[in-house]
Amino acid sequence: MPNSDVHQYLHYQAGKILLPVTMGVGYLLGDWYMAIWAGAGYVLHRWFDQDLDQVGITSGEAAWSKTLILAPLIGWSTLYAKLVQLLPRVFNFPKGHRSWWSHWPPVGTLIRLAFFFIPFWIVFRMFFLDSLWREFIGLYIGLQAADWVHSLADWNSNHVLIREIKKRVKLKSRR
Ligand SMILES: [Zn+2]
Repeated sequence: MPNSDVHQYLHYQAGKILLPVTMGVGYLLGDWYMAIWAGAGYVLHRWFDQDLDQVGITSGEAAWSKTLILAPLIGWSTLYAKLVQLLPRVFNFPKGHRSWWSHWPPVGTLIRLAFFFIPFWIVFRMFFLDSLWREFIGLYIGLQAADWVHSLADWNSNHVLIREIKKRVKLKSRR
């Protein structure tokens, strides 16, 4: 499987095309405001990727721990990973990590985004009235684009392109 360095490299490189594309989609489906949130969704994938469905600290969580506002989210994401592990056992559906409902767009993206949106939504609603549905849809567009890149790399991790990136990432870390 591609490690987090390979995923990040792909996310960055693919973003040169997908960031403007997702913003364009956001614009066509809504307006400039939604375009901005779609772009944010793509970028935020760096810290909210599918690997959050694993118990243990992901590279995204390691980055959160350095900021005061996001550090409490680690508890929330631990709950998320535990639920992904536990629910299939209780309700008898495909097991958690890397399954279609936790790792693959469009369903996995929707579930993960909804889960991580909740704490922000609760805090926001304490002070404002907006329902945040435009922000949610915008984020969903961008996050989903980035999820496709990640999931396809997971799925075809022996592809020449992925092997090439693995080599490059290794060279970089040696330098
Ligand atoms: Zn993955």
